[in-house]
Amino acid sequence: MIKIQHSTIHGTGVFAAVNLSQGQQIGTYQGKRYTERQAARRDWNQALTYVFGLSDGSLIDASEGGNETRHLNHSCEPNCEAQEETGPRGRLSIAFYALRDVRAGDELFIDYSLIVDEPDSEAAFRCACGSRVCRGSMLAPRAAQG
Ligand SMILES: [Zn+2]
Repeated sequence: MIKIQHSTIHGTGVFAAVNLSQGQQIGTYQGKRYTERQAARRDWNQALTYVFGLSDGSLIDASEGGNETRHLNHSCEPNCEAQEETGPRGRLSIAFYALRDVRAGDELFIDYSLIVDEPDSEAAFRCACGSRVCRGSMLAPRAAQG
C-alpha cells in the first residue's frame, strides 16, 4: 500500500503504492517502546527523528524495529494524519490515515506539529514543504503549544 522512495522534499519519503481512499489506514507506527520513566533516562539528542511521543508520556522509537511509516515527512498541508488509538489493556498505538483520496505515486505527509522545550532549537525544525499555507516550521502553531 505504501512504498519508500527518494522524497520530493527531504531525504527518504513514503509514497502511495496504490490509490488510497480518504479515511483509509496506511499503516501503524512500529518500534521500540519506552515508558515515560525509561524515556527520561535516555539521551535522545541523536535519535529524535524517529521518535513518536504518545499522550501517556511513553515513546515509540522507530530507529529500532520501525517500519516504512518512520519515513513520513512533514507538510503544513498534509494528506495523511496520525491518530493515537487505544488497544487492549489500554495500550496506546499510532495509526496513519489518508485525509483525502491520494493517487498512486503521490508522496504522503503528516503534520508533525512538534512541541519542543527549548525555543532556540526552532531553527532545527524549519519547514520548506512548499505548501501555500506553509508556516515555515515543523513545530506546532504557537497557540497549540500552551
Ligand atoms: Zn511547511
